[in-house]
Parts: sequence; structure tokens; C-alpha cells
Amino acid sequence: MNPLKSIHSNCGVFGIFGHPDASVMTYYGLHALQHRGQEAAGIVTSEFDTQKERYRFNIHKDHGLVLSVFANSNILTDVLKGEAAIGHTRYSTTGSGDSRNNIQPLKVNFKDGHLAVSHNGNFTNTMELRSMLEAKGTLFQTTTDTELALHLIAQSEQKEMTDKIIDAFGQIKGAYSICILTDDKLFAVRDPHGVRPLAFGKLEGSFVFASETCAFDIINAEYIRDVQPGEVVMIDKDSLSSGKETSFSIGQAEKFRHCIFEFIYFARPDSLIFEEKVDKVRRKLGKSLAEESPSPHAEADEKKVAVINVPDSSNTATLGYFNRNVKCNKDLKHEIGLIRSHYVGRTFIQPGQDKRKMKVKTKFNTVKGVIYDRKVVIIDDSIVRGTTSKLLVELVQKAGPKEVHLKITSPPVVAPCYYGMDFPSKGELIANQMDGNIELIRDELGLTSLHYLSFRSLKESVPYMHPKTDYCTACFTGEYPISINGLEKMNKHQFDD
Ligand code: SF4
Repeated sequence: MNPLKSIHSNCGVFGIFGHPDASVMTYYGLHALQHRGQEAAGIVTSEFDTQKERYRFNIHKDHGLVLSVFANSNILTDVLKGEAAIGHTRYSTTGSGDSRNNIQPLKVNFKDGHLAVSHNGNFTNTMELRSMLEAKGTLFQTTTDTELALHLIAQSEQKEMTDKIIDAFGQIKGAYSICILTDDKLFAVRDPHGVRPLAFGKLEGSFVFASETCAFDIINAEYIRDVQPGEVVMIDKDSLSSGKETSFSIGQAEKFRHCIFEFIYFARPDSLIFEEKVDKVRRKLGKSLAEESPSPHAEADEKKVAVINVPDSSNTATLGYFNRNVKCNKDLKHEIGLIRSHYVGRTFIQPGQDKRKMKVKTKFNTVKGVIYDRKVVIIDDSIVRGTTSKLLVELVQKAGPKEVHLKITSPPVVAPCYYGMDFPSKGELIANQMDGNIELIRDELGLTSLHYLSFRSLKESVPYMHPKTDYCTACFTGEYPISINGLEKMNKHQFDD
């Protein structure tokens, strides 16, 4: 992931039931999901108090990376006791990010016990739901859409917890992959279109859920299957004895609409999402790009053309591109031309300094000997605002290349996301600013050439694992497969998760 990109996945979710070290497993799971949200993290556990003979919910959450939020490991062992837990990593946007209340998991006590929720995605009928709940006198403690789910569950007139959850999610529209912890059960729910990923696995007799399977690998859990679009999976003590989950349905959409950007950029290449390996798809994207836009040849007196990746976001796609292109162009050499520092925290900016420029300079440097006097081909996954790409190209140009070609493994981004990714507004996207004119974007970025993967090649590069499989591609087309109900008119940070 390129942490300087103007798009951020808002969340990673994790849940575990029936493990003596539930909080520790959740901590490691969140660690593996750190790329899905770096601003805040939290864990809630359910603990049975044998003396009082009732359940207690323990919670710890704060702003910061998982490592720093849980720097005091006693929190995991002494505070977050219990054999069931859910966790969350959050990317929060400016403004709302300052509110501690918005950090997840969110937790409430209600007449039937405790309830905690971790959510990845965005509800799209928040306005209607919020108005409806406010009319009933509901008081809100956060500005997140996630809180709506808590109120809908708590206020449901159904008797059983499972029915309350089915009732609540029957009213919610949009994108969500959610873990819900109650006193004695763990639920995982995925929206009918399956926009965000949610994997289901097992670990030493316990049950686990996570946004991506890299969170299973770190704790040696076994991937069993995806939570299906429109499915509610329930785990309780009977599941522990039978080894089986219980499944319910809130209804499945006619077509699934998995977020195609998860394959392009968000998910880790060592994860399996939507039942396919991210690494495999990302290589395929690189390969398709090579077929559409091969690299230039070197002249007789020139060194080999350097094909370089932008670490770490385009590492895998670059391999796919290079391996395909080198078969018909022996003048190519895969080089490490950009070095990324992994040890940069917040950048100290002096008055008058360009913040984004300093971030790029502290994060990346060029290997001058690799770039100098050569034709350079940079592979990247996407261009959003264009500001980071421009600064990266500037950095490469300073190292004295003969030519700089930029090839992108996705089409131009032209529309914001309302399904759980934090994108800049439409007007801030460089493709809109330049009216979709690729030559203008090329000039603005200071490139010899620029190529975006065609929409057709993108759609042909992703897997279709199920007869219902299709993808959300709204940020490339502006066509939203789930109604956004006027969300584009709202302050984009009014409800965010
Ligand atoms: S709009 Fe883009 S980022 Fe958002 S869900 Fe659709 S494909 Fe993914």
C-alpha cells in the first residue's frame, strides 16, 4: 500500500469466538489488517463473570496504530479478558477522526445485554434511518453510520438476538462487512451485494472472521470460506461443540458487486478475497497492462529500459507487467529504482513547507544509478488527485532519466466512493480536472508517456468465481450499482466508516 495515496480503506474488521486468548489473537489479526486503517484501533471482549454470573464487556480503543494503541500488553491479558472478541482498525477522515467516540468497536448496553459492532463499509440510507430513529427519540453518541446498526438491533421488537440482527440489516442498505459481539454469540454479516470482503475461518476449535485472510495467516487460522453476500453467520457455544456455524439470510442481490479496487490496490497481495488470491489478480492486471501498453525498446547505444515499481503498492503488478513484456522485449530490466522508508511516522512540517512534498520525500527516494541516463517505465496502480504521482515523477526526473513512462493498472478514477473508501471529491480527481484528456494529465505529471489500463481489460482481468459475480466499478464509471440516495449532496464526512 502506498500510504500517500489520496484514497484510504476505512476499516479492517476481525472477530473470534471460543479462544482462551481471544484478545491476543484479535491483536495479531488487527496487526495484519493495519493497511486497512491506520488512524485508530480497538478491541472489545465478552467475559463471563463467574462470581456475578453475568457477562461483562471489556473495551480498549484509541487513536494510533495497533502497535501503539496496545503498547501496554497488560491491556490484552489483564483488561481484555474473555473467550470472544471483535476488533477494528479505522482510517478516519479529517474532522471526524478527532472524535474518540467514533473509534470502533462501538459498544452499548441494552435491555437484552451488551452489543458491540465493528464495521467496514458505508450504509447508503443513513439519512432516512437516522431521521426515523431520531423521531423515536434515539440519542446518537457518534457521527458514524455504524451506530445506526446498534440502535436498530437494540430497538428491534424481535425476541431472539439473531432475529433482531436480521430485522436490523433488513432495513440497512449499502456496503457492509460487520462483526457483532453479543454476550454469548458472535455474528458476521455481509451486505447482499458483497461489496467488501469478509472471510470465515477456524483456529484450534474456535471460529474467526476477518476482512482479509492475511489476518488468519498470522495466527495460523484456517480459511474455511467467505461469508456469503447477504449472509448472517452465527457462532455460539453449540457451534463450539458441533464444530459448525449457523447460517441465516437477509437476501442476496441478483448480482454481487465486489469492490474491484480491493484487487487493484486496497487488499494485501498475500490475502485471499472474494475467493481469489489478490497476488494472482494483481499480476494479471500487470500482464494485461503489458499487452495493452508494452515498454519502449532501448537504442543500440542505450542501457536496458528500467521497469520500476512504486513500493509497496505496485510490487506485484510490476512483476506481472515485466514478466509478460520481457517475453517480446529483451531490452527490459526489472529494477528497484524507488526505495520506500518504512519508518516514517508523522512528518514534521515547517511553516511554508509543502506538506505533501515533504511526505513524499521522507517516504521515497530514488536509486540514482538505476535511473540516470535510462528510459524508465514506472508501474503504479492508480492516479487519484495526481499530486503524489506528480511529486514521485519529479523525484524520478531529478535522477536524470532519458524518458519517464508511467503505466497504470486501472482506468482513470472519475468518481468518489460511497461504499466505504475515503476518496477525494469529484472536483479533486485529476481525471476530472483535465476533462479525461490523457495527454493533458501526462503533461501535468511531467511524463514522456502515460497509459491507463482500459476498462475492458480491467473487467477481463478479475475473476468470476460464481454465476452471480460482478464488480462495483463506480469510481471508474460514476455508475453506482447500489443507490447512493443523495449521499453525494452530503458533507462526505458527516457519516463515515
Ligand atoms: S466505488 Fe470504487 S472503491 Fe468504491 S466500492 Fe466501487 S469500485 Fe470500490
